[in-house]
This record gives sequence, structure tokens and C-alpha cells, in this order.
Amino acid sequence: MGNETKRSALVCGAGGFIGSHLVSRLKREEYWVRGVDLKFPCYSETAADDFVVGDLRDPLVCRQIVDGRFDEVYQLAADMGGAGYIFTGEHDADVMHNSASINLNMLDACRKRNVRKVFYSSSACIYPAYNQTDPDNPVCSEESAYPAAPDSEYGWEKLFSERLYVAYNRNYGMTNRVARYHNIFGPEGTWEGGKEKAPAAVCRKVARAANNGEIEIWGDGMQTRSFLYIDECLEGTIRLARSGFEGPVNIGSEEMVTINQLVDLVADIAGKRIRKKHIAGPLGVRGRNSDNRLIKERLGWRPSMALRDGLAKTYEWVERQVYRNELRVEAA
Ligand code: NAD
Repeated sequence: MGNETKRSALVCGAGGFIGSHLVSRLKREEYWVRGVDLKFPCYSETAADDFVVGDLRDPLVCRQIVDGRFDEVYQLAADMGGAGYIFTGEHDADVMHNSASINLNMLDACRKRNVRKVFYSSSACIYPAYNQTDPDNPVCSEESAYPAAPDSEYGWEKLFSERLYVAYNRNYGMTNRVARYHNIFGPEGTWEGGKEKAPAAVCRKVARAANNGEIEIWGDGMQTRSFLYIDECLEGTIRLARSGFEGPVNIGSEEMVTINQLVDLVADIAGKRIRKKHIAGPLGVRGRNSDNRLIKERLGWRPSMALRDGLAKTYEWVERQVYRNELRVEAA
């Protein structure tokens, strides 16, 4: 490991959206950072001091990258995507196998190296479908996770893995931390190709649409969600990782909107009038919102940034990607 006087961190999934931003944040705090992923970040250079391209489904790779006592370990690597990836059923076996293997291997490697604390990113997708049928009053308080009934295999794997991290705390004296992220978005997130999530997809569709144009929306657009800007996610992540609280705890926004309202917000930011065409598509639960009472109580902090502010930054970035792509197509 690099400079022994610096604090050190290992970020698994450092080529992904949240992981690459987390690496940059830790570098700003002057950590020595090792990132690991199947791939480098797609939209910018990694800020990591050391970046290992490796497959965490391989236990040997996990043992090689945990080659010393990191001060902080963040396990964000997962086989995941938006509704178009995790709710169609087409990727269920891979999603479960790949992500469970990563978590089993990483925990084993950390325990054997006497790395006692790992941050794990679980998801709001663990919450029972039966509590999320009313779009105006979804229940997502942490204790409502049981009796368990996630609506996707992605959610079931997350539930298994968060229990795994807590079981290692119980049986091996580890102090792992578990967060349940709710819809994180921002610049440099996947914005096309099938793995993108609602905010990036809506920004792309609006950026491509003409003024007075039409965009397609999955479902009737009355399903509700909340979306958390990446900087707030990182703040919550780091606070939880360094806290004395084990979790699981929600890291999400409480500013709930319908997907139709999300489209209207983005259209307004873009300065365009946009018509919505509602079509059939994978939807997920009818309503979901973060419940931030526990994080406020245990960490004395909760996210507060307005959705519109985060969307404005995200739209600007996605619009630039759209223009760049169009220029590339014209030049070809
Ligand atoms: P992402 O897909 O951008 O990042 C995940 C990274 O893991 C990818 O870069 C991928 O290449 C890597 N990876 C997958 N399999 C791997 C393997 N076998 N070995 C090494 N690397 C592998 O996703 P993200 O949005 O940055 O999410 C990070 C974490 O947060 C994930 O665990 C995700 O489930 C969780 N989460 C995210 C959200 C969200 O809204 N973004 C919501 C809930 C939970």
C-alpha cells in the first residue's frame, strides 16, 4: 500500500457511478485510495492512486486487493441497473449470483486480513412490495423491511447480503456498516444503454426532444419516487462509515415526486414544453420514499438538497453527452 502516513481506503466498484465519485471525494480528503472494478470509470479519469481491474467474483482477486489494513473499505460493486435491467426478469440469475459472490468473497477476504469494518451499499429495493402500493403513502422505515417481500431478485440479494454483513459483525467481531440507498443520481451516471435510471433517462429524453416535442414514459407516470443527489449520498456514506452506528439505515431524499412531476421539472430546467406519451414498461413498486428519521436520530444529519438543484446539474451534464454523441454521429 502507498504512503503509510496517510489514511487509506479501498473502494470496490470504483469504476461505477457512486464508486468513482467516492474515490474523488476521498482523494479530496487526502486519503490514499485503491479502486477495484471490472472497468475504469466511463466518463472521467479515476482519481485513485491505484486502480485494479479485477473480478471480485474471484476469491483470489479479493485476497490480492485486500493486501493490508485499510482504514476504510467501501463495498459498492454489484451487478445492477435501472428498472429496464432489474425488473424484466431477464438478468435475475446473474444479478443474484454475481452480487452475492462479490459480497461473500469480500467479507471473507477482509476478515482473514483482520480488516474489521466494511461499508456496504444495500438498497431501498429490499423494502416489501406490500408497503409500497399507495403512491402517496409508501412505508420505508428501516424496521418495515420484515416480513420480507422485495419485488425483485436484486432486492432479495441485497437483503441477503446486508444480513451477511451484520452476521459477520455478530460472529467475527467486525463492525460493518450497512446503508440502504434510495435512487442516487447525478453527473457521470449511466445515461443510456439500458442500465440508466429514471432521472438520467428523463434528462436524455428531454435533451433529445424538440421544444413542444413528445417523450415516452413507462406507465401512467403517477408512480412516486424520491431521488438523492450524489454529493449528499457521499456525505451520508462517509458519515455512516465513520460512525458508531451499524445500520441498516436509509440514505435517501424525502422529497417525493411522481415520475410525471420529474419530467415537468426537467422540462422546465431545459426551457422546453414537453408532452408525455405513456407506454407499457417495467415499473417497480407504485410508490417509494426515503424515511429519514433514523439517520437524523443516529447520525444527527439528513440530506437536504432540493431535487431541482441536483436535476439542474445532472441535466447540464446529460445534455452535453447527448450533443457530443450527435456530433460524433454527424462526423462519422
Ligand atoms: P454502478 O453499476 O455504476 O457501479 C457498480 C460497479 O460495480 C460497476 O462499475 C461494475 O462494473 C462493478 N462490478 C460489477 N460486478 C463486478 C465484479 N464482479 N467485480 C468488480 N466490479 C464489479 O452502480 P452505482 O449506481 O454506482 O451503485 C453502487 C452501489 O450502490 C451498488 O451496490 C448498488 O446496488 C447500490 N445502490 C445504488 C443505487 C443507485 O440509485 N445508484 C440505489 C441503491 C443501491
